[in-house]
Amino acid sequence: MQATKKHNFGAGPCILPATVMQQAANAVINWNDMGLSILEVSHRSPEFESVVLKTQLLIRELLRVPDDYEVLFLQGGASTQFSMVPMNFLQRETYAAYLDTGYFAQKAIKEAKLFGKVNIIASSGDKEYSYIPDITSSYDDAAYLHCTSNNTIEGTELFSFPENRVPIICDMSSDIFSRPVNIREFDLIYAGAQKNLGPAGMTLIIAKNTFLSSAKNAVPSMSDYRTYRDNMSMYNTPPVFPIYVAMLNLLWLKEQGGVSKIEQQNIKKAFVLYEEIDRNSLFYGTANVAHRSRMNITFKMYDAAQEDEFLRFAVQEGIVGIKGYRTVGGFRASLYNALPLSSVEVLVSTMQNFEKTKIHSGMLENETAHV
Ligand SMILES: *Cc1c(COP(=O)(O)O)cnc(C)c1O
Repeated sequence: MQATKKHNFGAGPCILPATVMQQAANAVINWNDMGLSILEVSHRSPEFESVVLKTQLLIRELLRVPDDYEVLFLQGGASTQFSMVPMNFLQRETYAAYLDTGYFAQKAIKEAKLFGKVNIIASSGDKEYSYIPDITSSYDDAAYLHCTSNNTIEGTELFSFPENRVPIICDMSSDIFSRPVNIREFDLIYAGAQKNLGPAGMTLIIAKNTFLSSAKNAVPSMSDYRTYRDNMSMYNTPPVFPIYVAMLNLLWLKEQGGVSKIEQQNIKKAFVLYEEIDRNSLFYGTANVAHRSRMNITFKMYDAAQEDEFLRFAVQEGIVGIKGYRTVGGFRASLYNALPLSSVEVLVSTMQNFEKTKIHSGMLENETAHV
């Protein structure tokens, strides 16, 4: 029996298009009529090598990656990049500049400090990371500047990036492929796949070739970007299935009209939900309006005691994954590419209905008070 599909607002692993799930499921049983599962083919087979090439080409096409940039597939998630970046690019005699914009930025800073000096050139920690801070300190002699394009937990997003007077390295885990970016503004971009690209298990790197060549010597092979560049991302066994499903998802994205087209839908979805958060008398948004993320929408209730009740109310409508991150509380609705507008509309009408039940019961309480 087929269960009804939930409205999945989970922050990651994220929802993927139903057609992609179906194609992936088919390939697990019998890939391309080869009489083999995608899970058991050699990563050195010509069939799988063509998957890697095709995935790289789709990424180049969809994000307009210039020819002098590499597209690499690694493992270990975005969290491994927190240490790999400074391991490769932070020399002892210099410093790295970091934007402190939230939970994941802080994790990146923690790891970088193991390898050298870190200057935090802007922070929004004074207001619970609810906004994107301006850069007021100079970073002209930094080895690189690290930023986070979308703060998945706090629900803020960078809509313009720091000037690339030094190499800019960006964690784009939770908004890559949701909008066009100018790759030339960056020397290295990384992203864990499971927020907008595919299943957990692969990490995408897009990096300028000359920047990779500038890495320190004496970096362990598995932590050295050049190992992946020089071995077609297959120095060891790559994450075969995540790469394959990412390819399917990118084909889907191309069919939707590409990144600019999906951005229009993402703007619309976010607008519809923020509009309700701002209208509804029970809820309020937690991020500074100018920096509101289109991918992860954070909000709370004026009466925090009602939050559990709303969660149960929403579950009855098939809504899952809207509980806010444990350290932040409240709600977070993630509106990744594959989440349809219709799911957002269900959430909006659920918020409206909840408001009605509260106003109704409020009126009843007042009436009883009068008696
Ligand atoms: C989810 C996330 C991470 C952590 O990713 P993993 O792949 O789980 O290591 C890092 N940065 C951002 C911005 C994220 O959203």
